[in-house]
Amino acid sequence: MHYEGNIIRPPSEANSILLQVTVGCSRNKCTFCGTYQGERFRIKPDDVIMADIAFAAQHCRRQRRVFLCDGDALIIPQKRLLNILTRIQEELPWVTRVGAYANVKSLKMKTLDELKALKAQGLGIVYLGMETGDDLTLKNINKGTTAASMIQMGRKAMEAGFKLSITVLLGIAGRERSHIHAQETGRVLSEIDPDYVGALSLMLIPGTPLYADHEAGRFPLLTPDELLEELKIMIADTNLSKGLFHANHASNYLPIKARMPRDKEATLKLIDEALAGRVSLKPEWLRAL
Ligand code: SF4
Repeated sequence: MHYEGNIIRPPSEANSILLQVTVGCSRNKCTFCGTYQGERFRIKPDDVIMADIAFAAQHCRRQRRVFLCDGDALIIPQKRLLNILTRIQEELPWVTRVGAYANVKSLKMKTLDELKALKAQGLGIVYLGMETGDDLTLKNINKGTTAASMIQMGRKAMEAGFKLSITVLLGIAGRERSHIHAQETGRVLSEIDPDYVGALSLMLIPGTPLYADHEAGRFPLLTPDELLEELKIMIADTNLSKGLFHANHASNYLPIKARMPRDKEATLKLIDEALAGRVSLKPEWLRAL
């Protein structure tokens, strides 16, 4: 397989065939993100992508899923993306689901019918990095979008038939806006009602603008208890009809896996227990991105 630069994928795609169709991220401006620092975004040539699919056909026969890397595969023009998905179906007929990261911009660029066509061609799940539902924090982190657009595009992805997984970031609003960030994120998640929510805890990456802000004393990192308080408010304000709310990423202090709405009250109780010191938190050295 031809890989260039940093390859990242959602935790749930750990066993997927990682097919790199783009390099970098078409935005690459979020202040906390160091994944594609200095990487110029580009779509990989079709012949390289097709050669990788042919390689996977030979050597990845046990993997049932494909994940299209990097940061924003959905930005690929419709005809080319359909072509890639068709080739996956033809050459990897054992694959049951294809996934990709999406963002508001790429979801906006495609019509609902185009998204439905991608779904029909095998794209089954999209992962949307929302980070927060608080407009001021979205502006501060230079996400380039608003809560209203997140709601619109999240709903559009679901209407197209994709499974939708949304990532939010605990601690991203700093201390002063922690409460608002948690409430607004809960509100936006509830309005989208996705299939999965993954809450990660912010970890600062050297070289990013947010890291520099922290070093200069302009951005505080929350303590483990403050992060838990934030998570508690977020979960209390999130009403999903059937989704899974996960906070079990390696970056988190307290692993949580809740089926909503069934496990909501028990999860809030667990967080209270942890805040009272009756449930132990993950030690710092075990946390990672
Ligand atoms: S957070 Fe996502 S959209 Fe923002 S720069 Fe990183 S990969 Fe791109």
